[in-house]
Amino acid sequence: MQQADLIWMNGEFVKWEDAKIHVLTHGLHYGTGVFEGVRCYDTEIGPAVFRHQEHVDRLYRSAGLYYMDIPFTPEQIRQATLELIARNGMRSCYIRPLVYRGYGTMGLFPLEAPVDVAIAVWEWGSYLGDEGKANGVRAKISSWRRISPDSLIPQAKASGQYLNSVLAKIESHKAGYEEAILLDDKGHVCEGSGENIFVVRGGVIHTPPLTASILDGINRRSAIQIARDLGYELVERDIARGELYLADEVYVTGTAAELTPIREIDDHPVGTGKPGPITKAVQSAFEDALYGRAPQYRDWLDPVPAT
Ligand code: PMP
Repeated sequence: MQQADLIWMNGEFVKWEDAKIHVLTHGLHYGTGVFEGVRCYDTEIGPAVFRHQEHVDRLYRSAGLYYMDIPFTPEQIRQATLELIARNGMRSCYIRPLVYRGYGTMGLFPLEAPVDVAIAVWEWGSYLGDEGKANGVRAKISSWRRISPDSLIPQAKASGQYLNSVLAKIESHKAGYEEAILLDDKGHVCEGSGENIFVVRGGVIHTPPLTASILDGINRRSAIQIARDLGYELVERDIARGELYLADEVYVTGTAAELTPIREIDDHPVGTGKPGPITKAVQSAFEDALYGRAPQYRDWLDPVPAT
């Protein structure tokens, strides 16, 4: 990981190497944290954070679902992030705000434990690689099911919940694939280990609905709007596993992975085995939005003030 100079911790800017916590931090033991993944791009209008407010809002929603009161306002978190990017002198970076139960209480009733907040930034290329973004990646249907709403809250971006994604990701890599696709306990397609999924058949784009066990991805929302603005029909509905094998095109979206095509699933080529025309059209418009080249999506960018 490429280090930056400073990390923001509970209202202070501290040096990267000094951003430390106690080993009895509650979140380290029980996964009692929530976080975000956000990106800043070097755009046409200077460094700018993509859909910043939506990410901050989701952080607060995730925290609320786990009964955590964040001891800062959303505006303080937004401003701290912008200042952190500026003080680190970065033009583009990945941003990781983390809210976690801190040091003070052990055991499973954490409401007495402090709620700590940190924001880190670092340089991070596309998660599934530039090659993957251009030509697509190979995915495997995971033997692990996506966390059930009977046990956890799929809509929350909570630290402990990611053990599910970690198992799926490790399994797919050990089997020689680059990404995992998780189904729910009824066999419906949910999402990738850290991305939402879109399936194109007969010129129509399909994606699982928000009632599925998925994260309400901010890039999912952006990619839906962009596809519709481009004139494509996009339907939110349950998707069966077999439809993935029969699809003409499949792609995933997420802050880390951006928009990445899937070229093979369980050794079946997706369509021609190369990114298809709809994937390419949505991907290109999406990249224009990220880099400030699309005036109609400029209000998705939160500029980093010059220092
Ligand atoms: N699903 C999961 C499980 C994720 O971790 C992510 C990444 N945050 C996504 C979907 C995509 O969400 P977003 O577009 O907001 O990054």
